[in-house]
Amino acid sequence: MLQKFVDYVKLTWDRKLTESTGGNMSIRIDDKIHITPTGFIKHFFSVEDIVITDMNGKQLAGRYRASSEIKMHLKIYKNRSDIESIFHAHPRNALICAINKIKINTHILPEAAFLLNKIAYLPYSQPGTEEFAQGFVNDVKGGCNTFVLENHGVTTCGKSIEAAFARLESLETCAYLSVMQELIDKKPNDIPLE
Ligand SMILES: [Zn+2]
Repeated sequence: MLQKFVDYVKLTWDRKLTESTGGNMSIRIDDKIHITPTGFIKHFFSVEDIVITDMNGKQLAGRYRASSEIKMHLKIYKNRSDIESIFHAHPRNALICAINKIKINTHILPEAAFLLNKIAYLPYSQPGTEEFAQGFVNDVKGGCNTFVLENHGVTTCGKSIEAAFARLESLETCAYLSVMQELIDKKPNDIPLE
């Protein structure tokens, strides 16, 4: 499970879904949070670099400090027992949407419409703060798994590492298509909503 987590974290960086030291990812195993360290280029991530904390963010193991966004991860896990993994990243097309308040159209592809059936657009808040983490609570409680963060990035959650990652990549694909649609200035064919 830990090696799988490492593989998906590296995949996020290698597929340009986040850049430089940006983004942070976690999994929950038996009420322990396994999270990426602060200031780390994810391409070089290994099992030895994982930081482990309890559900209050107290560090239990790891040679580095946990990501400064751990408050967001804890807030989401505490409010939804079904979530086992969280990916926060700065994908470039989703960022264009987040900066320009463009709604990401997910009703153009069947898989995306299913995976991303609900997206919360959260107003800008200083990353790493309690206020920023608190901003997720209402939508998380309402069952939302996908968040677009104004002038910042995106956060996706899931019952598994694969589910959280799939939401992240699918969201970025839809963001790319939404940005291109704006550029070619044509209305897309939507798929019918049941
Ligand atoms: Zn961020």
